[in-house]
Amino acid sequence: MEITFWGVRGSFPAPGPETNRYGGNTSCVEVRTRKGSLILLDAGTGISPLGRAIMQSDEGHGHLDAALLLTHAHWDHIQGFPFFAPIYSAGNSLAIYGPSRSSGRLESVLEGQMNPHFSPIHSLKNLGSQIEIHAVHEGQTFEVAGLQVSVCLNPHGTTKAMAYRLEEGGRAFVYAPDAGYSSAGPPPKSVELYQGAQVLVHDCTYTPEDRALRLERGFSSYADAAEAALRAQVKHLVMFHYDQDYTDEQVDQMLERCRALLDERGGKKIKLTAAAEGTTLPV
Ligand SMILES: [Zn+2]
Repeated sequence: MEITFWGVRGSFPAPGPETNRYGGNTSCVEVRTRKGSLILLDAGTGISPLGRAIMQSDEGHGHLDAALLLTHAHWDHIQGFPFFAPIYSAGNSLAIYGPSRSSGRLESVLEGQMNPHFSPIHSLKNLGSQIEIHAVHEGQTFEVAGLQVSVCLNPHGTTKAMAYRLEEGGRAFVYAPDAGYSSAGPPPKSVELYQGAQVLVHDCTYTPEDRALRLERGFSSYADAAEAALRAQVKHLVMFHYDQDYTDEQVDQMLERCRALLDERGGKKIKLTAAAEGTTLPV
C-alpha cells in the first residue's frame, strides 16, 4: 500500500506563510491499496483538497467505493467531512468506521456538526452518495478493501482515540494520532498494535517542554512518539499532528531532536520522517 498526507496539523487549521512547507490542514491521510482501493484516515480539513483531486478523475463521478476510518470525533478529525466533494455524487459510496457505543450514536455525532447552527451544509441524509456508518470497538478486527484492520483505543485527555493497524501482504501501517500516554509511556496494548510496523504514523503534537505544560490535553511529544517506536521496534516512524502554533522551523527542530533521541536510545535503524502535506510514502 501507499500513503499520502493531506493534512498533518493537530487541533486547528494553521494556514499561513510560516506553515507552508508542512501544511496547515488538519488530519487526513489517504491509503491506496495495491489494487488501487481507497481508504481514508480521518476527515480533518485535508480531506477537502483530497476530495477535489478525486473529483478531477473519473473515480469521483460515481465510481468511488471508499472507507473512512475515524480515530475520534474532535473537530480536527471530522470537520472536513461536509466539504469532501465526492459525497455529493450519485453512485459513489463511503463506509465510515469510528469508535462509538453504536453506529446510531456515531451517526448522530457526525450529523451534529452539520446542524444549521454550525454548518451551511445540512444533514447526512440528503447527500447524493451512499453512506454507511459502522461503530468500531476496541479489540475488533475487520476487513476493509481487502486489508486486515485491527484497532486499540489510546488515552486522549478526557476521551480516547482509536489507533488503526492496516495489513496487506504481511506489511503493516499503523496510524496513531492523538495519543496522550501516562508517564509510564505507551501501554502494552498500544505497543502490541504498533509492533514491527513498516510505518508508524504517530502523534507528535509537542516538544517535551510544551507537553509538560499541557498534559491534560492528551497529546504526545516527539519523545513519546520515539518511545513508542523503540518499544514496538517499528521500521519507520512518521511524526504527525503538530500543534497549530508551531512554524515550519519549529517542526524542523522537532525532527532534528527526535532523530538525535532515537540514535541515542539505540534506534539508529529506525527511519524518521516529519509528515508534510503532499508527501507519499510506500509501506
Ligand atoms: Zn487531533
